[in-house]
Amino acid sequence: MTTGNWNPATEITGQTGRQRRIAGSSDCYFATYNACHSFRSLLFKTTPHMLTPKPIFPGVIELNFQAGEVLGCNVYLVHDAGEWLLIDIGYEETVDDFIEIIRQLDFPLSRCKTLVATHADVDHIQGLAKAKSILKTSVTAHPNAVEPLQTGDTLITLAEITAQNLKLEMPPVQIEHQVNDGDIITVGSLELEVWHTPGHTNSQLAFRIGDVLLSGDNIYRDGCIGAIDAHHGSDIKDFVRSLERIRDSDVKWLAPSHGPIFANNPEFMNRTIDRVRGYLKMADFGTLADSWPLMDQWDDEVAAGTLPEGLDRL
Ligand SMILES: [Zn+2]
Repeated sequence: MTTGNWNPATEITGQTGRQRRIAGSSDCYFATYNACHSFRSLLFKTTPHMLTPKPIFPGVIELNFQAGEVLGCNVYLVHDAGEWLLIDIGYEETVDDFIEIIRQLDFPLSRCKTLVATHADVDHIQGLAKAKSILKTSVTAHPNAVEPLQTGDTLITLAEITAQNLKLEMPPVQIEHQVNDGDIITVGSLELEVWHTPGHTNSQLAFRIGDVLLSGDNIYRDGCIGAIDAHHGSDIKDFVRSLERIRDSDVKWLAPSHGPIFANNPEFMNRTIDRVRGYLKMADFGTLADSWPLMDQWDDEVAAGTLPEGLDRL
């Protein structure tokens, strides 16, 4: 494993875990640069031939959970009748590990129907070009993800954040299939219902399989949400609508793109929705806010010459 263009200035110093995170991390900046060696040695020492599947739901395997080790963002393998697909692939350098797991699970590599991008953020899709060439399959994404993925756009994918001295490669990849809200992706007899859930990015997709929503970067078990950042197309109003849609659905389980699976609970969802809605009238996310009421108050106070009670004026 190489560290590639990893810049140590962006590491949290002193962190010794397998998973390293870039300082100031959001969901999109997770890195797993120490993961590969340890995982490969584990895989080959203890399981030379086959792995026993550890499904999280019928027909769904999450590859980090399967590995017993967090290698990166959640990668869902959905399968039925010998056919399978992946939802996200993560960073390029963990592609070999994930494919090795799939091989040892005895899924024929030639039966990969497609590689699906939940959205166009580097931590989910940097490895698509490499995985596509190994598996000789297609890539599927929302129309809004097509240009950044096909051009390898380092800004929209957040692969490059100059102010944080962060620059990752973003290999371009061609998109063969575009999917949008209401489309159905079939895998054997399984049906994945496509939800377009913009907010985190304008290309964010989620996929319903029965009672489960593979929910992308909409919300995590601790109530955090995917990073709000104008550069990759965040929209706070859209985010609220997407979260409300998830809350109001009869989906029972949310299987996010980072971290553990959790129950879809209206009270839990409301706490996050209220917080996110509040951002519309706060300065916290700059141009993504609707208004900043303090500035209206400031207009009035400037016009009236008002200063706080108790302020000693020299
Ligand atoms: Zn993201």
